[in-house]
Amino acid sequence: PGLFKSLVYSTHNIDDCASVLSLQNYKPIQEIENSIVLRMLAFPINPSDVNQLQGVYPSLPNKSLNYQTLEPAAIAGNEGVYEVIHVPNRFQNLKKGDWVIPTMANTGTWTNFQVFNDESQLIKVNGLDLFTAATIGVNGVTAYQLVNDFVDWKRNENNWIVQNAGNSTVSKMVSQIAKVNNVKTLNIVRDRKTPEEFNKLAAMLENTFGATKVISESQNNDKDFNKQELPQILGKHARIRLALNSVGGKSSSSIARKLEKDGLMLTYGGMSKQPVTLPTSLLIFKNITSAGYWVTELNKKNPQRKVDTVHDLLNLYEAGEFVSPKEDIETLSWDIEKFSDDDVLKLVQGGINSTNGKKKVVV
Ligand code: NDP
Repeated sequence: PGLFKSLVYSTHNIDDCASVLSLQNYKPIQEIENSIVLRMLAFPINPSDVNQLQGVYPSLPNKSLNYQTLEPAAIAGNEGVYEVIHVPNRFQNLKKGDWVIPTMANTGTWTNFQVFNDESQLIKVNGLDLFTAATIGVNGVTAYQLVNDFVDWKRNENNWIVQNAGNSTVSKMVSQIAKVNNVKTLNIVRDRKTPEEFNKLAAMLENTFGATKVISESQNNDKDFNKQELPQILGKHARIRLALNSVGGKSSSSIARKLEKDGLMLTYGGMSKQPVTLPTSLLIFKNITSAGYWVTELNKKNPQRKVDTVHDLLNLYEAGEFVSPKEDIETLSWDIEKFSDDDVLKLVQGGINSTNGKKKVVV
């Protein structure tokens, strides 16, 4: 490989987290000839990557002087897809040209090259397109496990999942994975500026990403809508057994209210930064369970479960049941030939600070 260039940080800043990043050029401390050398193909900018830079995420990489910085630093980013460009003979499972993703979080993916010395720390994802491969390790695994690991679905029932932030990358994947289980999804998205904008978004989620029905947050919170229109949308003998909450606040109470008796709400994100509030009656009279989900911790406890999940997702992709998130992704192109270090830094900082709501993937 050429020179290693990584986006690193030594400090955190909750108000302007992009400012803690710098682009560092260095020679890796590992012996290149004896290591697996990877070339980065594409990495996403996920909310948790941003939370790490802000210093508000409970899982952080160790900072070190390995990148020839003055202060101990870590490489940003937790997922992304690499191409294997060098593999010593002692590693039997990998070959040059394979596409791989890291098994664990905190390995630092916002980089042009990376070095590994343990092939069990990499999962092969050959056959995927760039955007699916770049987002399968965190969002894909999360979506798959949220749908499959908590509720025992019976195929012949009118089962539903209700989920807020219904246009997030995770939610789009949830809808498709649910569909495979014959489970329908009610996706709630924040109101848009115009009805046309809302309809366009709803059509994309329903036609491309497998959502059964998309409604707005105002409908989610509207008592009349929930009494009159919602039952018609859901159909006869509907069972909303699972609510997936990545927003919190009022939105989480409103999705919890839609659950059937003994239903489960899993909270896996807190985009509104508001606490999860649950009406007392739901806990007492409907026996709702409210629990959390954290992919990082689950993977740490059981890395094989992640490997198995990725393999299941690869099979779904091959069978055409899991489409690429590409259509709704904004690509940020890192031009290796032309970009100065400052251009790369600005590209990624711009992605972090963007407010257009689109998932960013740096290619
Ligand atoms: P994306 O970047 O694809 O989407 C973000 C979503 O959040 C969009 O639907 C957006 O809606 C919504 N959103 C943004 N700001 C707010 C706000 N203030 N109030 C309500 N909704 C808001 O996200 P990902 O799919 O990568 O991640 C989705 C969530 O899942 C995040 O909270 C993330 O941290 C969490 N997550 C958790 C994991 C876990 O293990 N617990 C693993 C993976 C992800 P809009 O278009 O209206 O802006």
